[in-house]
Parts: sequence; structure tokens; C-alpha cells
Amino acid sequence: MSTAVQKTTTPKARPAENDLGFGRFFTDHMLTLQYEPKQGWHEPKVVPYGPLPMDPAAGVFHYGQALFEGLKAFRAGDGTVNLFRLDEHCARMARGAPRLCMPVVEPSLMRSLILDFMRVEQDWVPRAPGTSLYLRPTMIATEGFLGVRASQRYTFFIIASPVGAYYAGGVKPVRIWVEREHTRAAKGGLGAVKAGANYAASLLAASRAKEKGYDQVLWLDAEKHDQVEEVGTMNLFALLGDELVTPPLSDSILAGVTRNCVLQLAKGYGLKVSERPLAISELTQSSKSGALKEVFGSGTAAVISPVGELSWTGGSLQVNKGEVGPIAGRLYEEISAIQRGGRPDTHGWLTKI
Ligand SMILES: *Cc1c(COP(=O)(O)O)cnc(C)c1O
Repeated sequence: MSTAVQKTTTPKARPAENDLGFGRFFTDHMLTLQYEPKQGWHEPKVVPYGPLPMDPAAGVFHYGQALFEGLKAFRAGDGTVNLFRLDEHCARMARGAPRLCMPVVEPSLMRSLILDFMRVEQDWVPRAPGTSLYLRPTMIATEGFLGVRASQRYTFFIIASPVGAYYAGGVKPVRIWVEREHTRAAKGGLGAVKAGANYAASLLAASRAKEKGYDQVLWLDAEKHDQVEEVGTMNLFALLGDELVTPPLSDSILAGVTRNCVLQLAKGYGLKVSERPLAISELTQSSKSGALKEVFGSGTAAVISPVGELSWTGGSLQVNKGEVGPIAGRLYEEISAIQRGGRPDTHGWLTKI
């Protein structure tokens, strides 16, 4: 299957690289791929970026069959472009599709489609420090049919957005609301896959936290509301003494690619690295005893997001005096440097375009 390329005749003006923000600008092209049961996945093409023709009865609109990925391409000092952990992102989407009764795009196919797309769009990878090109591979149900069952037709597409340095003014710790009412994901639910529905479920708590002056929420388990799960749309880490703890993967925790990077790198820092349950009471007790050194989130958008404060109804705790801790800082610097070719890629995390 070879990808047809139809180039735009009206290329866009490039946005200023010092004010990209996140997800505001899109490149000139998108890649699309179609599925129907007889042919399987077919018709890969790169076409000018624009609206998708959709049947208003399409499954994605009514029953939420939508799955996505998020990965980045970085420009190295020598001008070449690298994708970060391409194979892990392709594998994760392939693992997620069956949970939503969607057909798998084989990781080898997805990999080659992303590379086909990047060969057309590589000039869109920004050059300014801290910037990157964010890729959003997405799969949606497109069959026009209102009966409740899995769709028989799907579209897979890739769009891309040049994005700015996440921390324009240097890494800044976030203030977090511990969410005890709403939950993001429950046992047996969709939490382990990158389904759009998980984001829909999270929006109300996030917007209420913002109204209260917090940046994001800390998600607890859906059953007892006492186990720490994730922070915002990131995986969570806490440094307790010299033990770096993150909750174990479960069906309510997303297997972050950045989480995996942190686990690999932190072992080399002389820390005890544990994937184990973490109760909110352990966080508050270790804050009192002085054992709680750092808390941070990990994800593709921010890489590492240090947490400076956790608050809940009737209480709060400060982490590392509200400042960036040494481990969070070191992980951020090291992962960012590898992404941009400023450090040797000893783990094989980069794919050159
Ligand atoms: C995408 C995502 C993450 C982070 O995953 P990365 O692969 O590191 O970007 C963490 N939690 C949730 C809920 C997510 O959707």
C-alpha cells in the first residue's frame, strides 16, 4: 500500500515560533486512511489539511468511538528531524483499538504512515528552542448507523501542530486540586486507553479546579477515593526519601510513554524505583514526616510537570517549598536533551525522518 500525496496549492503562512502555544496552528496537510470490513485499511493519502466529510449518523458522534495518540517530532541542532518513541506510540494505539471494538492499524503500517506524512511536513518542525511538532494520530467511527454496536467503517487520520515551549518562562510547579468527587476512570473502564471519552469525563473536574485557582486535578481511584492514580492528563510520580513511586499500571491508568522514560532514567540516578500503590494518606503523612521530597507529572506535552502544592477541602500541603525539585529538574533536562539530539540516544528512543 503506497501513500498518495496531493500537495496543497495554497500553503499557509508560518506562525511566529515565539508564540505557538499548544494546538492552535495546524500544518498544510493531513494523512487519511479508510477502513471497511471487506478491504480492511486502505487508501492512504496525504491531502491538504481541511474538514472531513462526515455522515451525521457516524458512530463517533453518538457513541464516542474515538481513539487518539500524541507524539512529537523535534529538530536537532544539525537541522535533522527525529520522532520521539515512535514505535511505543504505534504499539499503544494498536493495544487500545480492541478495547473500543475498533480495527487495529498494525504498528508497522502506522509507523510507515507517520513517516510518509512527516516527509511531506518536515519543514513544519519549528526551529526555536523548546518548540516541536506535535502529531495527533486519531481513529474515529464513520459508519452512518444509529444502532448500538461497533461501527463497520472507520477513518484514521494524522494532523500536526507546531507547538511552543511548554514552559515559556522556565519550568513552573503547578497547584493541584485533589479531586474526591469526580473520577476519571474506573476499574473495568476505558482509563488505560487513549479514548476521547476519558477526556470528556475529566473536563468538569478540571474546569472546577481552574475556577478555584488550581491548574489541574489529582485523580484518585473510583472506588474508595484514597489511592492516587494520575495528575491531570499525566502520570504521577512522588519521591519519598530515596524511593521514586508511581502507581502500577491498571485498567484505570494510562501507560504513558514519558512514564516509561522516567522509570528507565531514574534507575540510573541511584533511586529505588517502585511501581506500587500510593495512598493519599501516605502522601500527607510523608509530607508531615519530611519524607515527601517531590511530586511531578509526566507526559508528552510538558515532559515533566513539577507539583508545588496539593489542596483539598479542609487542607493542603506544599511540596519542596513550591519549587522545582532536583529529580524533576534533572529528568526534564535529560529527556529534553535526548529529544533534541543534545545527548546521545543510548536507549534508541529516536527515529530519524
Ligand atoms: C496521554 C496520557 C498520559 C501521558 O502519556 P504520554 O505517553 O507520556 O504522553 C497520561 N495520562 C493520560 C490519562 C493520558 O491520556
